[in-house]
Amino acid sequence: MEYALAIQKARDYLAAHEDRILQGLQEFLRIASISTLPAHAQDMERAATYLASRLRELGFPVVKVIPTAGHPLVFADSGPPADNPTALTVMIYGHYDVQPVDPLDQWETPPFEPVIRDDRIYARGASDDKGPVWMHLAALEALRAAVGRLPLRFKLLIEGEEEISSPHLYTYLLEARGELDCDVVVISDTAMYAPGIPSICSGLRGIFAGQIDIIGPAHDLHSGVYGGVVANPIHVLAELLASFHDADGRVNIPGFYDSVRPLSPSEREAWARLPFSETAFCEEIGVPALTGEKGFSPLERMWGRPTLEVNGIWGGFQGEGTKTIIPATAHAKITCRLVPDQDPAKIARLIEEAIASRLPRTVRYRFTVMEGGHPWTTSPEHPYMKAAAAALQECFGAAPVFIRMGGSIPIVSALARQLGKPIVLLGFSLPNERIHAPNEHFHLANMRCGMQALVAYWLRLAAGPVSAE
Ligand SMILES: [Zn+2]
Repeated sequence: MEYALAIQKARDYLAAHEDRILQGLQEFLRIASISTLPAHAQDMERAATYLASRLRELGFPVVKVIPTAGHPLVFADSGPPADNPTALTVMIYGHYDVQPVDPLDQWETPPFEPVIRDDRIYARGASDDKGPVWMHLAALEALRAAVGRLPLRFKLLIEGEEEISSPHLYTYLLEARGELDCDVVVISDTAMYAPGIPSICSGLRGIFAGQIDIIGPAHDLHSGVYGGVVANPIHVLAELLASFHDADGRVNIPGFYDSVRPLSPSEREAWARLPFSETAFCEEIGVPALTGEKGFSPLERMWGRPTLEVNGIWGGFQGEGTKTIIPATAHAKITCRLVPDQDPAKIARLIEEAIASRLPRTVRYRFTVMEGGHPWTTSPEHPYMKAAAAALQECFGAAPVFIRMGGSIPIVSALARQLGKPIVLLGFSLPNERIHAPNEHFHLANMRCGMQALVAYWLRLAAGPVSAE
């Protein structure tokens, strides 16, 4: 069937069935699937079962609620289209669990009693991530109605532990490697840059976290008796931490930037065109001015450049009044945000080498690696990204932007590393939709355009050919 006719049919279908689609979403939102609270274990089961029954209604021949040591995973596979056994396979990942709702008294309407007002749907999970998951189901339904079948093979992996760092998904990824085979992974769990600007997220920073302990005398010492001959661990730590950056705001750890992939000129140009007011940004976060690495814009420094931050520092006497001691120890927690192709384990090694070489002989130290996560990126030039951009442009009537996020979504880099396939982060939420906070909501206008864009994306991929990188 001709593309224009198919997309029009899908649009008409979505419009004609909008009430039912929204009713289904409201039912989904009524389930209090708070993954972190043991009291809601039954709700987790209910949410998984609800999704599974919806997927069976959609005609998926394989639908499984997979038990884990925590909350169940929902997996569905449409199988290849009957007339095209070699069609592309798209994997859609999302999550049905939500954050806790306190402070409850700040909600204008109860978090698990969804209401629609001002063309927005209010409920916990509306924007993160039940609304976007529901969009995918509705888009598949419309696609099937428009062309009579699913023209691609679709696999869905919807987990119930995203908000608690997916502790059991990783085991499943290892065990079910074959079942998860696909050509591209599409995830709708990120935000658009701003209202009216459809966005695709093309990169996330990784993380390294560690703790530095400076160990001085065997116990706190009297600063009058011993002051002048014993190294003070707090002084030593302060000097060490101060040595971690140079005057140009660069991280002063030898080798730190060795694996940093330079930002492409086209990406830098695109970010430079995004609306960004440094003054408004400063006002919003309450600082008089910004800082950072010289030669890069604020968006580049937040999205595409690595950092090292001291997150906490403690030691010595913290009580009221004075206490005349040379403290026995001093401590700091640090994290680095990493960009492609930095490796958290290598960064940990480089930092430890810098610490060892910079500390005086007068103290000992301990360096503990707490956490590591790889950075991730899919090139905006990748055919799967370009097809997504074209679909967004068509349905939102505005040119989409490729943005990145400064934070980390560990599951994205895990999926990328396990499956070795491109990931397209096609987000339809808005930054101010109060996710994780009271009065979470989702804009229905973006939901409508987004569902159409998903259908358009699948139709474009079905029309192929999309060559892999
Ligand atoms: Zn989410």
